[in-house]
Amino acid sequence: MAQYLKRGATAEAKADADRKVRDIVEAALADIEMRGDAAVREMSIKFDGWDRDDYRLSQAEIDACVDSLTPQERKDIEFAQTQVRNFAQIQRASMHDVEVETLPGVILGHRNLPVNAAGCYVPGGKYPLLASAHMSVITAKVAGVPRVITCAPPFQGQPARAIVAAQAMAGADAIYALGGIQAIGAMALGTQSIDPIDILVGPGNAFVAEAKRQLFGRVGIDLFAGPTETLVIADEIGCDAELAATDLLGQAEHGPDSPAVLLTTSEKLAREAMREIERLLMILPTADYASKAWETYGEVIVAEDDAEMVRIADAIASEHVQVMTADPDYFLQNMTNYGALFLGARTNVSFGDKVIGTNHTLPTRKSARYTGGLWVGKFIKTCTYQKVLTDAASALVGEYCSRLCGLEGFAGHGEQANIRVRRYGGRNVPY
Ligand code: NAD
Repeated sequence: MAQYLKRGATAEAKADADRKVRDIVEAALADIEMRGDAAVREMSIKFDGWDRDDYRLSQAEIDACVDSLTPQERKDIEFAQTQVRNFAQIQRASMHDVEVETLPGVILGHRNLPVNAAGCYVPGGKYPLLASAHMSVITAKVAGVPRVITCAPPFQGQPARAIVAAQAMAGADAIYALGGIQAIGAMALGTQSIDPIDILVGPGNAFVAEAKRQLFGRVGIDLFAGPTETLVIADEIGCDAELAATDLLGQAEHGPDSPAVLLTTSEKLAREAMREIERLLMILPTADYASKAWETYGEVIVAEDDAEMVRIADAIASEHVQVMTADPDYFLQNMTNYGALFLGARTNVSFGDKVIGTNHTLPTRKSARYTGGLWVGKFIKTCTYQKVLTDAASALVGEYCSRLCGLEGFAGHGEQANIRVRRYGGRNVPY
């Protein structure tokens, strides 16, 4: 039976915070829908202290951001973008159109069609998270989306230069310096100056994630990708206290609402890691966010064995799962609920976040129970079609269809089948 050495916030506290965010987002989206650009501008001034007539950046502004990169910064961004593009292209190549003859004369198929327009959100309130530009814009382009627009909030009163450069290098068709609910609402609902998109993608804080959730149905969304979560699964063979603590705080620094959980079979490792976290929090430059996150949401759980760790980890369904045990592949083979797995001490979540090539936009708040992270497939609609090539096939399917429609009481559907049986099968089925 697992033992909790530290517990995070209660479900009631989380629900209360969720309610407040939900109400703010609902009011803001209604205002954007009613007043368009005027509402967007007021919100941009209110939440980001950022005011312009037109939030779309000009080509000159974009070029200035790209030109501001040092040669090394440029190379580093290019390297990360190449890794993300390569893996996305391999995943795209694995998605095949299908056409098969399932019965003599009956052809069924599907085509993988990209959406026409995507809105990619790149977060930038606390840190200019340029990596999100690679993850969403490049992936949309590899999927074949013709129009890809992207928004990121201003950072310290200016368009975030590294984000803008990454958005441009990733191939965005239009770049807006807009953040939060106003960016999400403007892209999804459209305003006088921004044409609406078909799908919203990208991570963000609680306001961004909730705005996407509320807009789902009006537009598509990739997934619920809110404040970062991490779960470190460790034992004494695969990990030590310093590694465990570093990997927990490396993700807790995202913000005060980022849960970090240590799950281990070793109480000794758990207690050492907790002491190590206290030590690192004295020296980590971003300890302000990380210590709040650890205090409020941090958890430490000691389990009996690997099988119990799998059960607990699947119930948590964390966005990131870092496995540092004697046999990391056991977790790859047995876990079913996770956004992304990082197997073994040689890799870590930061590699995935920034550069290694898998997508960092991943499901949070247990949505890993029903979805993986962002990938080319999220921009693609798998649309079916059918053809019936012979009279005999039409009459055969028509007879089954007619009887099944009768069972359901659907007379109109039944007649759609019957007319084919009469025309192509030559049998006189009554109207
Ligand atoms: P952000 O861009 O998501 O949000 C900043 C915006 O929030 C601001 O532009 C502002 O308009 C809005 N805002 C701030 N306070 C507000 C308020 N009180 N009311 C209404 N709007 C408000 O940037 P961030 O805040 O730094 O958050 C980034 C988030 O993205 C972090 O929580 C991080 O963990 C998360 N993230 C998630 C993933 C994932 O895949 N799940 C990946 C990367 C980052």
